Amino acid sequence: MSDKPEGLPPDAMTVEAKLGFLEYKKSPETHISLRKTGADSPCVTECKSKPCTTVCPAKVYEWEEHEKKVLVAYENCIECGACRMLCPFDNISCDWPKGGFGVKYKFG
Ligand code: SF4
Ligand code: SF4
Repeated sequence: MSDKPEGLPPDAMTVEAKLGFLEYKKSPETHISLRKTGADSPCVTECKSKPCTTVCPAKVYEWEEHEKKVLVAYENCIECGACRMLCPFDNISCDWPKGGFGVKYKFG
C-alpha cells in the first residue's frame, strides 16, 4: 500500500520526499523559540488544536504529551514563515538563521 496522501497522482512526490532534496547547514543556535514555556504557557493551558504541529511543512514542532511541552527541531526549518502567523497565542518567535546557516535553495 502507498504511503502517499489520497488524491495525489501516482507520479507525484510527497512533501517529505521533496524535503529530502534540500541541503542544510545547521546553525549552532536556534532561530526559533517559544515565548512562554512551562505549565502556565498557552501551549499547555489554552491551545487545544496546536496548529504549529500540523501546519509546519517541515514538522519542526512536535507536542510531547508525556512532558506536556512543544519540542522544536529548528534545524529542519525551511524558512517558509508560516509559524510566524499561525500561532493563535503569539507564542512563537521565529527569526531567520544567521547568514550562511539554515536551508540552502538553488534557483534557476
Ligand atoms: S500553536 Fe502556539 S500556543 Fe499552540 S502549541 Fe504551538 S506554540 Fe503553543
Ligand atoms: S518557518 Fe516554516 S518551516 Fe520553519 S518552523 Fe516555521 S512553519 Fe516550519
